Amino acid sequence: MRWSNALINTVRETPKEAETISHRLMIRAGMILKVGSGIYDFLPLGWRVIKKITNIIREEMDASGAQELLMPVLSPSELWQETGRWQLYGKEMMRLKDRHDKEWGLGPTHEEVITDIVRRQINSYKQLPVNLYQIQIKFRDEIRPRFGIMRAREFMMKDAYSFDRDEEGALKSYNNMFEAYKRICRRIGFNYRPVEADSGAIGGSSSAEFMVLADTGEETIIYCGKCEYAANVEKAAAIVEAKGGNAGEELQKVHTPDIRTVEELAAFVKMAPEDTAKTIFYIADNKFTAAMMRGDREINEIKLKNALGAPEIRLASAEEIKEKTGAPVGFAGPVGIKDKGIKLVIDNTVAVMPSMVCGGNEKDYHYTGVKRGRDFEEDMTADIARAEEGDSCPKCGGKVKAQKGIEVGHVFYLGDKYSKAMNAVFLDEQGKTKEFVMGCYGIGVTRIAAASIEQNHDENGIIWPMAIAPYEAAVVPVSIKYKEGYDYCVELYEKLKAAGVDVILDDRDISPGVKFKDADLVGFPLRVVVGEKNFKDGRVEVKMRKEKDFQLLDKDAVFERVREIVEEGKNKLKS
Ligand code: ATP
Ligand code: MG
Repeated sequence: MRWSNALINTVRETPKEAETISHRLMIRAGMILKVGSGIYDFLPLGWRVIKKITNIIREEMDASGAQELLMPVLSPSELWQETGRWQLYGKEMMRLKDRHDKEWGLGPTHEEVITDIVRRQINSYKQLPVNLYQIQIKFRDEIRPRFGIMRAREFMMKDAYSFDRDEEGALKSYNNMFEAYKRICRRIGFNYRPVEADSGAIGGSSSAEFMVLADTGEETIIYCGKCEYAANVEKAAAIVEAKGGNAGEELQKVHTPDIRTVEELAAFVKMAPEDTAKTIFYIADNKFTAAMMRGDREINEIKLKNALGAPEIRLASAEEIKEKTGAPVGFAGPVGIKDKGIKLVIDNTVAVMPSMVCGGNEKDYHYTGVKRGRDFEEDMTADIARAEEGDSCPKCGGKVKAQKGIEVGHVFYLGDKYSKAMNAVFLDEQGKTKEFVMGCYGIGVTRIAAASIEQNHDENGIIWPMAIAPYEAAVVPVSIKYKEGYDYCVELYEKLKAAGVDVILDDRDISPGVKFKDADLVGFPLRVVVGEKNFKDGRVEVKMRKEKDFQLLDKDAVFERVREIVEEGKNKLKS
């Protein structure tokens, strides 16, 4: 491509609405353009990156034995009703009515549609296993679309679904996908970690997320410094060191005016935060429920929800708390909670506190010296603490660390959840009908582009890994008016193109400073600069975007060298 013909509009100003580096740089490099909240155009440069990502994913999916197909974006409400997800999906699913008033969903994911295909197409164990995938647009009406294409409302996903005759086969399919995702992440050049997202009954982990490590990530990963343990903080087991709990032996009501936070409370009663216990109120499965956590720690609501086996939990409102406990928010505690008909769950850390400071069930009052067993009784003890750096690893006892990550992929063992609901069956060897055992596997194609920038940039712009760069090399004549140099550039450009290198020729008649700035911003991995002074000595600059210094090469050696670097860069991460 000649730059003069290309639609590449770089932007110097930092876009105001962009909070993350990748969002800012994608806009500034002219890769994406906002159409509406969470909805973007992919401009030619951006689309080239997406196509490269897609190619890698497609190659690895095909290599794993999966077959590509394409399902429609629109699917009829009836299919979703079969699994109950027409209701359950709630507002995240975008819906519309056609001219006959018939309801349709814009696919946020495709389990129902694929299960329908398979129940209509496969009826014998002989046709199994199959793994079917597509690369397609998804719609999700996210509560908070943000960070550009990182959390969009329309985005591209590769979604795959495996169908097996039994659990053993399904686990094999799951592991096969797990390995394929590792290869994909590796080829894209990610610094990543697969983490446990759910510990199911089968084979230890039934769900794993592929996390790209980045400070701007919305997820927190808890991982062990000693062993392989890594989990999403939403699921991470926490072995929290027991400490504190020295709040006196006698139950005493203390006037604590204007106290709002745990820190303020601890300071006021001259104790430590870990001597206090907070009581948080929830509505879990329509039941008023209290959860107690040691003052210095936070509740993990997903763990709480799992511990309660509640399909849905939410925080109780200030009014609900006042009405049920008689005390305003922040002052309701566990003493006498049983008589109010409130279910009480306490965290493991609270269970071992000899005594604690708790809400006094009255505005501006707390109790000190609250003792479990004597002053309150729980219905249940569970690990409901949000894991933190420094906790002990549940596998090996080592210390865990915390790190932010971006979820780019997710592999999930589904079992018969969908096949059962949709009566998707086949005939086994004995001629008996059996439900398919399924897995589903998603990769955020467009999110990958943003995640890659989060890991590969500097103050001047993007530093694309060779494998997904929009162009692998840029040939930049310092001035197109210097004829010998420019002719050389054109020839080099044509030769590289013919040799299969993705190359762009910056043939614009503008200042070299602007050309260099643009090349750095857009982030081509390799740049060839032809300037009059060096060229008169037969030499040409070759510079890697990720390196500070350039090399001066003999002008006749440049073509070979560039080709080598590009090939090497593209293939070195292939296994
Ligand atoms: P998240 O927790 O980030 O909302 P999810 O668990 O809803 O993700 P999945 O349903 O597992 O995501 O979807 C598979 C993949 O699709 C994710 O791993 C992610 O890479 C991508 N993805 C999900 N939601 C979005 C979005 N709103 N914008 C861009 N990519 C997305
Ligand atoms: Mg989501």
